[in-house]
Amino acid sequence: MTIRRSAVLATLIIALCGLFGIASVQVLIAAPPKSGDKKAKSRSSNSKSAKKKSGDRPFKKGPREKEFVDAVGEDYRVKPTDHFIVLTNADEAIVKDFLPRLEKTYSSVHRFVDQVGVKIKYPKEKLPVLFCHDFDEYSARCKQFTGQPAPGEAAGLYWRDPLNFSLFYDMSQVSFIKETTAKAEQLKQDAAKTPDRNAKQAKLREANWYINRIAIYQQEQNRSVVQHEVAHQLLFNLQFHKADVDNPQWFVEGMATLFEPPPGKSGAGFNVINQSRLGEIRDALVVMKTDDLKNFISRQRTGMLSSQGYAQSWALCYYLVKRKSKELPKYVELIKKRPVDRMLSTKENLADFEKCFGKVNDVFTKKFTSYITKLPYLPPQ
Ligand SMILES: [Zn+2]
Repeated sequence: MTIRRSAVLATLIIALCGLFGIASVQVLIAAPPKSGDKKAKSRSSNSKSAKKKSGDRPFKKGPREKEFVDAVGEDYRVKPTDHFIVLTNADEAIVKDFLPRLEKTYSSVHRFVDQVGVKIKYPKEKLPVLFCHDFDEYSARCKQFTGQPAPGEAAGLYWRDPLNFSLFYDMSQVSFIKETTAKAEQLKQDAAKTPDRNAKQAKLREANWYINRIAIYQQEQNRSVVQHEVAHQLLFNLQFHKADVDNPQWFVEGMATLFEPPPGKSGAGFNVINQSRLGEIRDALVVMKTDDLKNFISRQRTGMLSSQGYAQSWALCYYLVKRKSKELPKYVELIKKRPVDRMLSTKENLADFEKCFGKVNDVFTKKFTSYITKLPYLPPQ
């Protein structure tokens, strides 16, 4: 499998997105509707008919599956889902949780693109995903397919065209998780042997603290990374973004961060406030000047965004989705009409934005920053 490395447009999208991966894969799957539950029944039949109407069907199997199977060899098991072909050598219990997470993210992204009003073009075949047992395997496969090892801090990767696949590893194999789990286990055993009641309670409290920390990392680090990267893969493959034009980096990353929060009761992730990103950017927005915002919108792609850059991308995209929903599809189409393989100037980037959303002036900046800083913020516990 060869790769065309376009010097002009960096095609690697790394999940450096503020998340330095430490986690293990755990996924909550929504319980299927109980048979007697009429409302639930009509809800699921409605979503089925909505899917049918929107032309959304499971993707076909295609030649890429064999390409990947031949490339990774027999150690990898092939797990097809409605829209993905997953090749994995990770533990089965972990994989069982990973697969539904992909399809949940698919439903969220599909609903989002449909609601924004961008015409969806479906890929010809299922989308390839590699899910490796541990980091070393993951980095070796990254090198095999792309010629470069995976960056140590990248918890997941999405490679745009022509490779067009995403790559993850089971983070429960990460030393931090293993060490912390062992520490908690040891404390529990010590507590069991400790006759003194207070000392026993103290050890159990400390053990629970470690277990909670792991749970938070699991929540924040892994789910967000998988959903972020798969959102990239889907936003390109459903043609929300076009691969061979200069997509504003803040827009591509901002859109993917919308899908980091796990889908809550209110449905798809993009409706849920990304508390981790909000927490990172809200203070900076209070003092943001119009020139700062203009520079951010017009900047050219120059390597990785900072963690705050990702948080600001989330804030701007969340604002556009919520407050500029009529103008948003126009901006999406305008970017897709950009010249192939040419990086636009900062002036052109700003002009395209203002053509759709109006002048970026003090009024715009005030509306944007006050909207985001007034969102309900729940600091991490
Ligand atoms: Zn990203």
